[in-house]
Amino acid sequence: MAGPCAIESYAQTEEIGKAISAMGIKVMRGGAFKPRTSAYSFQGLGVDGLKIGKEVADKYGMLFVTELTDSRYLKDFIDYVDIIQVGARNSQNFELLKDLGSCGKPILLKQGMADNIDTWLSAAEYIYSQGNERIILCERGINGTDNKYYRNVTDINALLALKKLSHLPLCMDPSHSSGRRDFIEPLSCMAVIADTDALLIEVHNCPECALCDGAQSLHLDEFEHLLKSLRIYEAARKQTLPNG
Ligand code: PEP
Ligand code: MN
Repeated sequence: MAGPCAIESYAQTEEIGKAISAMGIKVMRGGAFKPRTSAYSFQGLGVDGLKIGKEVADKYGMLFVTELTDSRYLKDFIDYVDIIQVGARNSQNFELLKDLGSCGKPILLKQGMADNIDTWLSAAEYIYSQGNERIILCERGINGTDNKYYRNVTDINALLALKKLSHLPLCMDPSHSSGRRDFIEPLSCMAVIADTDALLIEVHNCPECALCDGAQSLHLDEFEHLLKSLRIYEAARKQTLPNG
């Protein structure tokens, strides 16, 4: 899964969508409701952003994943979104989780910033218990003591533990986990070696102009290089399996 942090305009989303679909990407991300630390930062295009994301994803035969921050917009998400993301800040918003349990859409549930395995799985249970079994767990880094050199602590151990504990598909988001473009490729390769089922990666046609998270967004050519590396690591992982 790949795409910009935020849907900024039709032209930006179209350029990115066209490029990543040509590279074989099947799910496009792009935030329309952005949970920003500062109230004065770009907040996303809202429902207009959902419409752009869905139009571009459909045009290039991809699914569209984006974050819901409030049940008020659930109806719009049902109309325009294929996979509904719950972000780190809302992963223990239990009323939101309950609503998503009966919405009929697959859910990408991020690990909360202070979640351990049990609290994360309990959050998933809020969705599951309402009848929605289509849940992807997405690692995105947990709070560390020092975010001077990178944003969060990548919780590879959580992915390894969850492989044993849960049948749910696992995803890793190296973009929010590290906050650094130069860390994306090695972290993604680690996820492949850990047999993670999916990756969620921020990519932009012009990271330097991005309205959100440009420093961690890959350029399109860097993303293409990353995909080549991932295929090599995936092949190597398979070769080392007992019957590989
Ligand atoms: C995102 O994926 O756009 C996002 C804000 O991620 P997180 O909730 O993990 O910070
Ligand atoms: Mn982002």
